[in-house]
Order: sequence, then C-alpha cells, then structure tokens
Amino acid sequence: MNYDLLIRNGRVIDPETGFDEVCDLAVSGGTIAAVGTDLGPAEREIDATGLVVSPGFIDLHAHGQSVAADRMQAFDGVTTTLELEVGVLPVGQWYDAQAKAGRPLNYGTAAAWAFARRAAFGGFTPDGSVNPLNHMGSSNDLRWTTDTASPEQLSDLLSLTRESLEDGAIGIGLPNGYLPGAGMQELTKICDLAEEFGRPTYTHIAYMSNVDPHSSVDSYVKLIGLAGATGAHMHICHLNSTSLLDIDRAVEVIAKAQAQGLRVTTEAYPYGAGSTVVGAGFFADPEFTTRTGSDYTAIEMVKNRHRFEDRDDILRAQHEDPKDLVIWHYLDIEVNAEHRRMLDVSVTFPGGSIGSDAMPWTLPDGSIYDGLDWPLPDTVSSHPRSAGTFTRFLRDYVFDRETMSLTEGLARCTIYAARVIEGCTPQIARKARLRAGFDADITIFDPATVTDRATFTDMNRPAEGVKYLIVGGTPVIDGGALDTAAAPGQPIRCPRS
Ligand SMILES: [Zn+2]
Repeated sequence: MNYDLLIRNGRVIDPETGFDEVCDLAVSGGTIAAVGTDLGPAEREIDATGLVVSPGFIDLHAHGQSVAADRMQAFDGVTTTLELEVGVLPVGQWYDAQAKAGRPLNYGTAAAWAFARRAAFGGFTPDGSVNPLNHMGSSNDLRWTTDTASPEQLSDLLSLTRESLEDGAIGIGLPNGYLPGAGMQELTKICDLAEEFGRPTYTHIAYMSNVDPHSSVDSYVKLIGLAGATGAHMHICHLNSTSLLDIDRAVEVIAKAQAQGLRVTTEAYPYGAGSTVVGAGFFADPEFTTRTGSDYTAIEMVKNRHRFEDRDDILRAQHEDPKDLVIWHYLDIEVNAEHRRMLDVSVTFPGGSIGSDAMPWTLPDGSIYDGLDWPLPDTVSSHPRSAGTFTRFLRDYVFDRETMSLTEGLARCTIYAARVIEGCTPQIARKARLRAGFDADITIFDPATVTDRATFTDMNRPAEGVKYLIVGGTPVIDGGALDTAAAPGQPIRCPRS
C-alpha cells in the first residue's frame, strides 16, 4: 500500500485509549490510514525520532480568528481554533468570510447571544464578517448590557439566536459578565434553546468577586442551576480568571454539580493575567479593589503599557475608547506561592481542558491586524496566551513540574475539549484521536524543547518545539518552519436545519 505521508519512529500518544508507543503513523487523503510498525512506502516520510506525535490541539476558546492568529496558534500546537465564548452573528456570513480568507487552521463559532441581544435592543445590525470583539463594548448606549429585556426584546433575541443555530452554530456564547443585565427568565430561555438543539452554551460568568453579593461563587451556582433547570450543557470559560482568589470554593461547588450528573464542563489557561476590553463594566465598580483583591495598578493598557493609577484613570480610558484592550494581572504567580497554587487548582481541575482565550492581534491604534506578514509585525500586540498557552502548559505543568503525566496533559489539549462539542459536531468526533480512520490533524513536537516564548513585554514571539503541524493531512509547520501558503483549515459547523 502506498501512503501520502509516513511519520516514522515517533512516540505516538492517543490520550483517549492511553496508547503510547514508539511506532509509525501513515496518512492517506487527509485521514490516518494506519498506526503501527513496518508501514510504508509513502510519497513522503517525516523522521519523528525523539519527537512526540499527538492529536492536534483543539482550542474551544479563541477570539483571534484570522490568518495571523492561526499562524501563532499553529506554533502552539493548535489545529482547531473555535470562537465559542462570545460567538458570531449571523454565523453564515462569518463562515463565508473565513472560507474567503483561507485559514491555516480549522475554525468554527457559536451563535452570539450578546449581539442578538444588542440587535433586539435596537440601533444595531451585527456584522458576521468582522471579528466579533469589534462589537463588544463599542457603544455609548449600554442598555443592551445593563437592562432586563422586555418580552418583545426577549422574543427578538431568541429568534436571532435560533437562526444562527439553524445555520450550524456550535452552541451559544454566553459572555454574561459583559451583559450582567440579562435576567434569569432570559437565561433559562436561552439555555432551553441550546438544549432544544442539543448544543452547549459557553459562559463567562456574570460576576467576578471574592465576596458577596454578586460573587464568582454566586455566578457559578446560578450556572449550575441553569444546567439543572434546563438540562443544557453549561461550559465554563476560563475557570482560572473568573474565580479570582476564590478558586477553592468554586471548584468544590462545580465538582459537586458534576458528581450529580449535571452537564457542567470547564477550561482554563495557565496565566495569572486575563485580557479584556477596558470598557468591561466591572472595572468601573467603585468596590473593584475590595471585590477582586486587585489594585488598579494590576490593570495594564495593551497599546501603551500604561498601568492605571486609580478609578478615575480607568473611567477616563473607558470614556475615550471602551474597545481598548487591557491585561489584568489578577494573580501574581511569579512571587506569590498561594496565587501559584490557586492557578494550579484551576488548570489541573479534573476533566478540564486547556482553552487559550487567545485575543486578536492589534495595532497600536487599537484596530485588529488582518494582514498576512510573517513573522508578525513588531508593532502588533495581544496577550502572550495568544501565542503560548498550550506549549506553556506542557512545559510548566507536564515537563518541568510533573504535575500530571504526558498522556493526561495531552488529553487536556485534545480529547477533553473534543468531548465538550462532539455530541453535536460530527466533524469533531473525527478528531482528537490517533487511530486509523480519524482525521489527520497531528501535532509533532520535541519534548525536550517545547515551550512558550511570548511574554507580557514580547507577546508576538511564536512558541518553540512544534516541528510539524499537520491539518487534514497538509503540513502547516514543516521542519519547524511555517508554510505561509498552507491554508488547509476547514469550517467546523453543526449540521444545518
Ligand atoms: Zn471571557
């Protein structure tokens, strides 16, 4: 038999079955044809001696969604990148725009409840062809984020969301923290809708605080209540950042809910700093410092690295341009051992996947970079997690500190994420496994050198150690170098009705 590609003599790991052997892996027509020894011949061979051969990493939480963002994530081992937390509206328009752009990685999105809500409140038409973060906070009239929906508004936002589900959205994004005005009547209806379609919701919880009222724990318990009351699968985005300093109590209540069979899943990223828009409502809260345990100096403007001095300073920036990106250093993991421990609790939570929350690459004026230069221009910035989440996790948690086995670490990058959506997304059920018949999305890395390189001062440094990244049988990274012509990414989309 003649194969397209033969990956020879690598350490092949299939996290789902626990298969872990030095052997060969053959690819034909974009599919894994065989795993074993003495395979061949093939059109092309890759010598993977000393390298780990893993299923391609699946990122459920990626806001970049551009060729530039894909390339940086490719070096981080990612083969499938999905915008689920915020989502897009209308999704058909978005999938068309991505197909035109020629994406290196597989891409997909949820339906954006947030923009359905904004449209229902009037004066706004969502545009599925632009990055959804362009629609967040970019308005002086913020009633769509703060007010309870009227019965007419509720009915409108439900039908707009339904249209995108019918058009193949992978569930519903619920960035509740940016729309705290949404009431329980509305949220139960949205979750009913997700459950009707058998698709998950992805929540950025309504409130982040270590103390009541409106604590993070309060928000998690409401989310658990939604899972119980509606039967919907509630996926928790970035368990690390939204739990702040109250992670221990947060994971206790989430683990209890899971033990009772409620469909609640989690993801986390291995950084003690989060990224968002300066217009996020919680920064304006007069109680911000008591509620979060953070000082205003913990918040940094991405475009000029300005650290805010006080509340007036950040209110000024919110007024100037609420879309400006900021980094919030809510845990000081480098110097504070207790903060380090808390981050570890979220990242190692049983069954949780790694999700990057990768942000778009932005120019100094705050606009999103959509160019094709490689390497990325020095002037663009984002968050180091947009370049190094998965490799940082492997280097730190698996190889350096040995908090878990390599197979368990890779499961968090692959099969645990796939399981969140594969029930409704048949394409994902064909990924995250290195067995004959599954998609040839493969990440091949050097365990001795794999690491992130991006820092808060040098964000656009690609990660190191991923030698080959294969998407649907086509190399995007080949011998450690990016193939700038490669665009094998496919749309990941639920069946349309
Ligand atoms: Zn978020």
